[in-house]
Amino acid sequence: MNYELIHTVKEKFQAEFEGEALMVFSPGRINLIGEHTDYNNGFVFPAAIDKGIALMISKSENAHSTIVSVDMKETLEVDLKNLNRIEAPTWKNYIIGVIAELMKVNPNITNFNCVFKGDIPVGSGLSSSAALENSLVFGLNELFQLGLSKMELIHVSQKAEHNYVGVKCGIMDQFASMFGVEDHALFLDCESLQSEPVFIDLNAYDILLVNSNVKHALAESAYNERYEVCHKIAHQLNKLSLRDVTFEELETLKSKISNADYQKGLYVLEENDRVVECKKLLKQNDIEQVGQLLYLSHHGQSTMYQVSCKELDFLIEEAKQMNYVVGARMVGGGFGGCTINLVLKSNSEEFQKSISNLYQRKFDRTCSIHKVKLSDGTRVVKM
Ligand code: ADP
Ligand code: MG
Repeated sequence: MNYELIHTVKEKFQAEFEGEALMVFSPGRINLIGEHTDYNNGFVFPAAIDKGIALMISKSENAHSTIVSVDMKETLEVDLKNLNRIEAPTWKNYIIGVIAELMKVNPNITNFNCVFKGDIPVGSGLSSSAALENSLVFGLNELFQLGLSKMELIHVSQKAEHNYVGVKCGIMDQFASMFGVEDHALFLDCESLQSEPVFIDLNAYDILLVNSNVKHALAESAYNERYEVCHKIAHQLNKLSLRDVTFEELETLKSKISNADYQKGLYVLEENDRVVECKKLLKQNDIEQVGQLLYLSHHGQSTMYQVSCKELDFLIEEAKQMNYVVGARMVGGGFGGCTINLVLKSNSEEFQKSISNLYQRKFDRTCSIHKVKLSDGTRVVKM
């Protein structure tokens, strides 16, 4: 945990507000494998990381609630009786959304003050958004002793993102952030929400995230488009989701839908299989083969599901050339953001130097690199 982050939030809180307060930390997440399978009710393999959002919160006697974003240097004041989304894209919609959706489940909330800050790259596929939603919903649940379970809380977070931010996200991000287990990834069935923490022996490897530092504008619309395509295919086969579709059934549609759509459906089916295979390999501690699956996964994301971009493809192609990188792929929605790389610890420094130089030379911009640990989920931080 980043104690400097906790300290900064505490100082800012104490400068702005008085009274007894609660500190919450909510992590971002990586996803080892299983990209774009979550909203298809499929399998994913995420893990909470040691970076996220720290949020301090207390009850308030004021006539409104005050929420301070240290990173954005902005303050939001909300009237709990009048919660409407803001028409422009802003962090405030995550906050308003969480409060509104939580109050639909349990209205026993009164005004509060809160300050938050993150140490996670924003909009880079590490789910700073779920970290933010979860930090607030968890904090409110604790503060007002609402008694909701973690499972209920993640659905509030998800609904906030659906209805107030306008992103039809699956449940994976919120789940991983909330339920993370140190040194484990969570094999998650997005249909049943059954999960199994699987230990990952990373003695010999580092997990390094390379942030391309690009975010192409079409990310959000493309995400919603993919969502529509997948649901259309499932619907045409009279299924609820692609999870229930077999390769044979998809094949029957091949001549009836565009090849682009067919490839997208096929990618999802193949990716689901890869997640199941990955669990098996991890249990055998076969990290080399896990790495190969990551490369295959990226290939599918790039050529079939078409959510990559030239910067991400470059980072993966270069990683593939380095024999100490056992596997790599893009993470998150796509069109920018990060790649995840499994790198031999002994060559970790070398990798960071090489990939930075190559990226700089190719695109005339810097990438940033983060080493992450697999960590526990959303929790109260004892002060
Ligand atoms: P990701 O979840 O991959 O990081 P999203 O686009 O889903 O990317 O969410 C990013 C959004 O979440 C930001 O644009 C901002 O509105 C909000 N957000 C995330 N982290 C912070 C933060 N530290 N402070 C304020 N807002 C944040
Ligand atoms: Mg997000």
